[in-house]
Amino acid sequence: MKIQEADAKKLLLAQGLPVPAYEVARSPAEARAAASRLLHGHGSVGQVVIKAQVLVGGRGKAGGVKLAASDDEAEHVADAILGMTIKGIPVRKVLVAPAADIVKEYYLAAVLDRAARRILLMGSAEGGVEIEQVAQSNPEAIVRIHADPLLGLRDWQAREMAFRLGLGAHLKAAVGVAKGLVKTMLAYDADLVEINPLAVVREGPGGAEERLVCLDAKITLDDSALFRHPDHEALRDPDDEAPADVEARRHDISFIHLDGTIGCMVNGAGLAMTTMDLVKRAGGEPANFLDIGGGAKADRVAAAMKLILDEPKVEAILVNIFGGITRGDEVAHGLIEARSRQKRDVPMVVRIVGTNAEEAARLLEEAHFETAASLDEAAAKAVAAARAARAATGGAA
Ligand code: GDP
Ligand code: MN
Repeated sequence: MKIQEADAKKLLLAQGLPVPAYEVARSPAEARAAASRLLHGHGSVGQVVIKAQVLVGGRGKAGGVKLAASDDEAEHVADAILGMTIKGIPVRKVLVAPAADIVKEYYLAAVLDRAARRILLMGSAEGGVEIEQVAQSNPEAIVRIHADPLLGLRDWQAREMAFRLGLGAHLKAAVGVAKGLVKTMLAYDADLVEINPLAVVREGPGGAEERLVCLDAKITLDDSALFRHPDHEALRDPDDEAPADVEARRHDISFIHLDGTIGCMVNGAGLAMTTMDLVKRAGGEPANFLDIGGGAKADRVAAAMKLILDEPKVEAILVNIFGGITRGDEVAHGLIEARSRQKRDVPMVVRIVGTNAEEAARLLEEAHFETAASLDEAAAKAVAAARAARAATGGAA
């Protein structure tokens, strides 16, 4: 789960990292008020920076990061940014902060290195640019240091990172940030904590002092660990999720949208993948991965059917249920119920074996469902039904 810059900064502050003060505004008037406090308040600054809060990178390039020097300008700039759509996402909030007087930008991030089974600290003196770009054009410019799973990032490792980035003049602060990123990662079960740019900025009267600060922040939380941080659920951004994903989560269904035309409803992740393989072997392309989970009742089956049918590309549906805890008759009832509510007439092939399969077969036969005894047969029938449907609508075979 990705979280907004402002929320990520709050987590960084809680872990003691150097993050400049900021406020979040939802309207031009709120942005004006926030800017006014910064421009005229205690320790006032000459300019504020206004930043779009959307969960995509490259906001700067897209025009979502702008400076303003007066209340009027801040309101005007916020109005423009709040009216923007960046990479398809509407901007609903902006962050308002004192504008930094940047000396140099760096990149520093803690990421989960699954292959090494360790947290990896990645740094580069080429900050501000996207790291993928640096990795491609100048891979030697990226410094990589693994934290120890038991001891964490040790002081000498943090110092090594600081020196290799050329941050020797800010050694103490750089060590604090490096260790802080790893600490943040562990504290919140994040799989990415990225600061880009980590910047040396001029502060104080006449810009006489230099300080190292986290100017941008990106944190991705491990979804599977969210139960350990109930308060993080509130940080979820609905704009970041397709409506189908929201529905799937609400019903405890594992659902992944794919590009094919055969909708699949299966219980069990392994069986769902096998089913997709067999659809492909039969010459079709799955429209989704869908695991309705163990012990699914009729209502969950109906919800799964709706998820599948909401994709207009679906030409046929393959239901493959291996009844264990999940009862075949429950699934059959769910399918019958779902079909009665269905607005679109899509051919469906059902294979149900295991617990209460006989009862399921009787129900499905009464309701005139197309059934199959084996998975191979079911896959072949579903693919054939999709072909027939396409031929009937005049599409290419
Ligand atoms: P991103 O483009 O979505 O990664 O947004 P960032 O927050 O990283 O901002 C992009 C760029 O805008 C940074 O690399 C900086 O060069 C610039 N920028 C961001 N904040 C400030 C600021 O306070 N002052 C100045 N002068 N530039 C800033
Ligand atoms: Mn950035």
